[in-house]
Parts: sequence; structure tokens; C-alpha cells
Amino acid sequence: MTRDITDKKVCLIGAGPCGISFLSAFSDAQSKGEKIPEVVCFDKQEQISGLWNYTWRTGLTANGDALPNSMYRHLWSNGPKECLEFPDYTFMEHFKKPIPSFPPRAVLQDYMLGKAKKYNIAQFVKTSHAVRHVEEKGSQFLVTYEDLVNKQTFNKVFDYVICATGHYTVPHFPKYPGLDKFDGRVMHAHDFRSAEEFKGKTIVLIGSSYSAEDISLQLYKYGAKKCIISYRRNPMGYKWPAEIVEKPGLEKIEGSNSFHFTDGTVEEADHVIFCTGYQHYFPFMSESLRLFATNIMYPDHLYKGIQWHRNPNCMYMGMSDQYYTYTMFDSQGLWIRDYIMGKIDIGDVGTRSAHMKEWYDRGQQLKTAVDEIVFQCDYVKDIVADMPNYPKSHNIELIAEHLKVWKTHKADNILTYRDNSFTSPNDGHMAAKHCLPWLKSFDDSLEGYVNQTEKPSA
Ligand code: FAD
Ligand code: NAP
Repeated sequence: MTRDITDKKVCLIGAGPCGISFLSAFSDAQSKGEKIPEVVCFDKQEQISGLWNYTWRTGLTANGDALPNSMYRHLWSNGPKECLEFPDYTFMEHFKKPIPSFPPRAVLQDYMLGKAKKYNIAQFVKTSHAVRHVEEKGSQFLVTYEDLVNKQTFNKVFDYVICATGHYTVPHFPKYPGLDKFDGRVMHAHDFRSAEEFKGKTIVLIGSSYSAEDISLQLYKYGAKKCIISYRRNPMGYKWPAEIVEKPGLEKIEGSNSFHFTDGTVEEADHVIFCTGYQHYFPFMSESLRLFATNIMYPDHLYKGIQWHRNPNCMYMGMSDQYYTYTMFDSQGLWIRDYIMGKIDIGDVGTRSAHMKEWYDRGQQLKTAVDEIVFQCDYVKDIVADMPNYPKSHNIELIAEHLKVWKTHKADNILTYRDNSFTSPNDGHMAAKHCLPWLKSFDDSLEGYVNQTEKPSA
């Protein structure tokens, strides 16, 4: 039984992968003849697709806002594309032929834009519009937003607000003694754009997660002399090539370029890149609505990982650490749509609190990557269980199995894990093999990759 929601107003902040999924869900309902509320999406970028928009800019946008882009020029997917395939818009539907499993950024962006086009989400989106403030106004929300082109600010009242602004945009940038005397470049992964400039150089990378791993591999691929990865708690432990080494914590930098590590070793380096992660940072949400979280598998205070505990009509998307990405965002988008349409009963406060606590506590107990993969698989299944119409053909378990295999490929050989192929969890087709191994492939353009035109370089 659905309720009449045609007089309701929904504000979505952000048109990245989360926002695109959410808007597609409403568009789909509309095309099936269901009455939908007024939906408005604000995104401060000039075009949709969030982090997947590449820019050469660093620091601020042309409008003086903090730059929301953290992707670099030669970024390739670090997980199999099959694990992020949209159930309702497969890679086969988009590219009309099998493509390999680890595409470069432009290919995944094109795929995402294909879904956005299929559902005509442009009808809902106001690009170059930044949300500046959201506060409760009785049972509704007052949203202040700025038209960045015409430099005008507006207020509008909404019944629902969904914050889908991502959480890999505002750097976590710790201090180390001696950095002020260091002669080289000090940057955060957020500002890393291209590996070419580091050819022949020695680089210290602080942090031991995906950015440290992938940026080191990029630097190696593009000819850096040496990468020294400094971990705080645990090394990643891959079988690195000789040019990449892992060391424990950085103690200090002495003189113009000497890096001292806690194992007593000292290395001279040209540059340092902080791969120390990002902050969940939502200054535009008033304090009563603002999520404070770190990059963990299940942030506290969100029922079903979505609804703000104090006000379920304020929702967040994509706020956990991520193994499942687009697929998880898609199920969240459908869930929120169905909640707004009155198709999901969220129960009373007590039930929701108990559910939140159970999942948060379980998230705190996870020890290994496999634990985390299984946990996120269960989380997606928990959301999907609330939606009887969720496509049965979408094999959520197979994604977890793929992710476990992907982990073993990485452990076997970190330089070749991207050369493997996986099957689609939706239509079962096997990915194509790329014409070159990732390490030897330098054409990351959409056309070059999809048509496999690249020839080995001499
Ligand atoms: P985002 O993509 O960050 O989009 C958020 C949107 O909100 C942006 O368009 C931004 O402009 C907008 N916005 C922010 N604040 C405001 C505001 N106040 N007003 C209006 N609009 C606003 N995932 C994968 O699956 N595979 C990968 O290979 C992969 N690589 C990654 C590489 C890097 C370097 C990083 C940082 C992340 C990567 N990810 C990858 C994970 C990534 O988080 C997700 O794929 C995805 O982009 C998250 O989508 P999102 O919609 O939550 O956020
Ligand atoms: P992250 O996963 O949150 O990891 C942050 C790292 O910084 C952790 O290793 C953490 O150490 C370390 N750290 C934090 N504070 C520190 C300090 N004071 N000193 C030393 N180390 C510190 O962030 P991320 O690696 O930037 O990854 C973010 C997202 O980007 C992920 O979703 C990832 O998949 C994505 N990404 C994808 C690609 C790709 O697809 N090609 C490339 C890069 C990033 P501890 O482990 O000790 O906590």
C-alpha cells in the first residue's frame, strides 16, 4: 500500500554514484505510472558523477569551494567491475559486448552516465548548485542553497533531505615534526593527479590502505625510482617489486630531506604524499542533523546505515567504508525511495535503536577483510529484504565470492591482480581479457580500452 506523496518535496544533495542511483529509483517508479514527490538534486559540480569526474584542479573549485574531486588521471578500478554492476543496467547493456574486469576511470564514469541517461535523471538535477545549510523546521527541513553561476542564494522547505555528498573529499592530514623544513613537495592523495611528475624520484607515502597501495603502484608503473610506504598499525604485506618498500611509522623529518622511521632507519626522499584518508565532513548540516563518523564498516546513528537516528526523514547514503560500491548505493537508493513512498515500515524508535546497535556492534568485531566482505554482503541483503520487488536475478552472494577471490589475487601478485576476469552477478557473462597486462597498458581512454586498440610500447 503506497501513500499519496505527490505534495511532498525531496532534497537530494550530491549527484555522484549514490545520487544517480537514488534518482534512477524515483524515475523508474515514475515511468511505471507511480506518483512520485517533487525531487530536486543539487550538485556543486558542473556535471554529475561525483568523484568520477576528473579535474586537473587542486585546492579550490573555480567558485572557491573545497574541491570535491579526489581521483587521479590514470586511475583504474581497484575492484572487479562485476562487483559494482547495477542490477538494472549491466555492463553488457551499456557496452554491448564483454569488456575486461578492471576498467580505467573514464570507462566506469561512462557506464554510470549511461544509467543516468537511461533514467533521464537530468530532469531532477541542478548542477552548479551548492547546498550551504540544512536545518529542521518543524517536521520539515529548511535548505539554503546557492546557484554558483548566478551567485544567488535561495531557501526552500523540503519534507525529506538525503545527504549523498560522499566522504572521500576532505583530507585527513596529520602533522609530523620537521615537515616545515623539508625541501620537497608535501601533498595529500586528494591532490595527487598524475604519476608522470614523479618519474625518477623517491617518494614517501604515509598510510597503508587503498590510496597508499594504488598510488605506489601508479608511481612504480610510471617510472618512480623508489616508494617508501610508512604504516601506522600494519603493513599491507604484498609481494612488492624491489622499488616499493614498507616501513613502520614516520618519526620525523630532519634537515631538508631525511625521513626517520620508528625502526631506526633513515631514508632520503624527494617528495611525500599523505595517503591518510578522509574526513566525514558535513558542515552544511546543522548540528542536530550532522553525522560524525570515521571510515568504518557501519557508522553509528544510522538506522539501516541510512536514516538519521533523531529524524528518519533525514537520510545519508554511502557513509560506510566500501567493498560493495555502486551495488550497495543502488540498494540504498531503492530503499529510501520505497520508504518515502510509504512501502517500508521502519517500526518504532526502540526497534530501530536495537537494530542500529546490533549492526554497529557487529561492525566493531570484524577482524579480517573477509569478515568485512561478508558483513557488507549481509548488510546489502538486510536492506534488500525490505524490498520484495528487488531483482531476484542480482546475485549478491556472488559479489562477496568475487571479492574474496580478488583478495587472494592481490596477495598472489599485486602487479597482476587487475589482469583477472570475473563473471557478472546479473547476466553471468564472463569479462573479456584486456589486450595488455595492466602494468604495460598506458591507454586509459574510453575508446582505447573498450575497443582494445592499444599496441605494446617498444
Ligand atoms: P561522490 O562520488 O563523492 O559524489 C558526491 C557528490 O556530492 C559530488 O558530485 C559533489 O560535488 C557533491 N557535493 C558535495 N557537497 C555538496 C554540497 N554541499 N552541495 C552540493 N553538492 C555537493 N569505488 C569503486 O567502486 N571503484 C573504484 O575504483 C574506486 N576508486 C576510488 C578512488 C578514489 C581516489 C576514491 C577517493 C574513491 C574511490 N572509490 C571507488 C570509492 C568512491 O567513494 C565511490 O565509487 C563513489 O564515488 C562514492 O559515491 P558518492 O555518491 O557517495 O560520493
Ligand atoms: P582509508 O582507507 O581510510 O585509509 C587511510 C589510511 O591512512 C589508513 O591506512 C590509516 O592507518 C592511515 N592513517 C590515518 N591517519 C594516519 C596517521 N596519523 N599516520 C599514519 N597513517 C595514518 O583511505 P584511502 O586509502 O584514501 O582510501 C579511500 C577510498 O579510496 C577507498 O574506498 C578506496 O577504495 C578508494 N581508492 C581507490 C583507488 C582505485 O580504485 N584505484 C585508489 C585509491 C583509493 P591505519 O590503517 O593505521 O588506520
